[in-house]
Amino acid sequence: MKDARFDQIRNDAYHGNMQLPQLGLVLFTFGNVSAADREAGVFAIKPSGVPYDQLSPEKMVIVDFDGKTVDGKLRPSSDTLTHAVLYKHWNDIGAIVHTHSTYATAWAQAQTDIPILGTTHADHVTVDIPCAPPMDDTMIKGNYEHETGFQIINCLRERKLSYTEVEMMLVGNHAPFTWGKTVEKAVYNSAVLEAIAQMAFITKQVNPNAPRLKDSLIKKHYERKHGPDSYYGQ
Ligand SMILES: [Zn+2]
Repeated sequence: MKDARFDQIRNDAYHGNMQLPQLGLVLFTFGNVSAADREAGVFAIKPSGVPYDQLSPEKMVIVDFDGKTVDGKLRPSSDTLTHAVLYKHWNDIGAIVHTHSTYATAWAQAQTDIPILGTTHADHVTVDIPCAPPMDDTMIKGNYEHETGFQIINCLRERKLSYTEVEMMLVGNHAPFTWGKTVEKAVYNSAVLEAIAQMAFITKQVNPNAPRLKDSLIKKHYERKHGPDSYYGQ
């Protein structure tokens, strides 16, 4: 019998996962969403290799922050250890989303930060979207999914960025990861990241020399959404 204590996060993870194909962010079984219960020290994540139309809340797997399965019959997503590392090191996140959405993944494969070119980007993040460099060979040969978590953490740390300010990034040669306090926010961030990635790509095609957004505009757009006098809402 499944443990009823985890019904809430199973439901949250299920609904988050189901949003990914609806938003056009995943094909087949690519991508996964997890939802954490901080008090219990566990998260619910999509099972490995199950098509979206066969998912249900009951099929979500409950895993602890070391990646050990606590409840559930199916094997958790192959990316589970990456999620576990992030939950373990970042106390203020409640959900994580990983997709291979086309435009964000293209920037990741190009190993290129997404430059801040417009106000859509600035409304969410005030810096270029970071792309972590590809893993070195010892990390690849080690515990790959575990190391992917550290690749994300180390990249933000090296750039002196906070995971509460920058809730999205690219893993070089791989694809995007996003997070947030809730599943709703983490999924929203994945959709926003894909839109920003697409806009930046097209902008650079229209004008390869398109400049970064001016600092004054970056500040204005960020503050109207996040500042003490925020008034943004479309
Ligand atoms: Zn992936």
